[in-house]
Amino acid sequence: MKISFHGADRGVTGSCHLLECAGKRVLIDCGLYQGGHELSEENAAPFGFDAAAIDYVLLTHAHLDHCGRLPLLVKRGFRGEIITTAATRELARVVMLDSAHLQEEEANWQARKSARRGREEIPQPLYSMLDALNTLDYFGRAAAYEQPVELAPGLRATFLDAGHILGSASIYLQLEGAGRSRSVAFSGDLGNSGRPLLRDPVPPPRVDAVVMETTYGDRLHKSLKSSVDELYQAIEDTFSRGGNVIIPTFALERAQELLYYLREGVEDGRLGKSMQVFLDSPMAISATEIFRRHPECFDTEAFARFGHGRDPFMLPGLHFTRETADSMDLNRISGGAVILAGSGMATGGRVRHHLKHNLWRQNSSVIFVGFAAKGTLARQIIDGAKTAHLFGEDIPVRAHIYTINGFSAHADRDELLAWHHRVGAARIFLVHGEEGVMRQFGALLENTQLEMPTLGQAYEL
Ligand code: ZN
Repeated sequence: MKISFHGADRGVTGSCHLLECAGKRVLIDCGLYQGGHELSEENAAPFGFDAAAIDYVLLTHAHLDHCGRLPLLVKRGFRGEIITTAATRELARVVMLDSAHLQEEEANWQARKSARRGREEIPQPLYSMLDALNTLDYFGRAAAYEQPVELAPGLRATFLDAGHILGSASIYLQLEGAGRSRSVAFSGDLGNSGRPLLRDPVPPPRVDAVVMETTYGDRLHKSLKSSVDELYQAIEDTFSRGGNVIIPTFALERAQELLYYLREGVEDGRLGKSMQVFLDSPMAISATEIFRRHPECFDTEAFARFGHGRDPFMLPGLHFTRETADSMDLNRISGGAVILAGSGMATGGRVRHHLKHNLWRQNSSVIFVGFAAKGTLARQIIDGAKTAHLFGEDIPVRAHIYTINGFSAHADRDELLAWHHRVGAARIFLVHGEEGVMRQFGALLENTQLEMPTLGQAYEL
């Protein structure tokens, strides 16, 4: 059994790990590098393996940094089978098509820029909508949680709840035969226990080695309850000042979780019934519809309440703005609106327009509710930037800035440690974390052989 690392190595994006065993080449995730234009070269670089020689891709979940290079893999010759849960398959379709659309737009914009400068090169997108559509043909068997899938004689993969987003999984592989057995688990991205809607993460049984995410390996989240209180308070304060609340949000999970709490707030009388909420993200709208179709992923309590057609997200003042024109109309609202829009790190998407129209206003608020990678606009604003560069203008930052981190879809340090403790692997590979965080987390692990792979590094298991 051999494992090599091709993304999210000492960084949080681009997850891609290759396992070679039983004569098969199995890729776990094939994600996009995210966080600024400088990463486009990393995405376009060779994978470090032959795409055509990959037999399987096991996809942990539908976030772009885990599935975003799949269309490129297919474009470069992959003809194997992509295996994932039914919910992830649906979400990944939306995520990959959206990504392809953005890649095409970016290439067109670059092409116009070169033409204006009299240059002849024609920039190509990383992949096109057609590549993304082709990728859908390679999604094969749907994995059910805790039901092993056979990849080769003696080689089985089992998907377990990761509690991170709808359909998300940790995956463990078992190789048995010739009197030897080997096992390795991939945490995928791990969520927190005790969230609404999703079930808690389920650790795999004892394995020989584990590849583990460390996004928040250096910190503890505030409690969920205090985060919800903070959210309600921030909304109330902003409305009393006559401003809008802008929430840059990830389209998957976070948007739905926020809608869930906004509905609860209205139902409990803690938020005004007249509050107008705009979900201004075609992808988040599609994801919300996919959520409604997969109550089998809900935890027992949510299933009991919402498994029979009752909508966990419906609140009286909720509007879905799919069309660009409807989104632009929101710029005319001067106060009393909560606008949820992507992208979560404000690196692109409609939220940049809402930031342009609200950041300079003292009575408005921007609430960051998710992870903000280094180099992103979200991180700059959180770190206290005086201006934000948007659409060629430097917009002064006068709005109230809130960072509420208890909503994280990622497990915090103690949850990661508890998961690791239950898995009990003798060898651990840390991935999907910034280097300093990884070192701090690694220092807490005892009795394990610790590795922090770099890009392209390979190990014999
Ligand atoms: Zn994720």
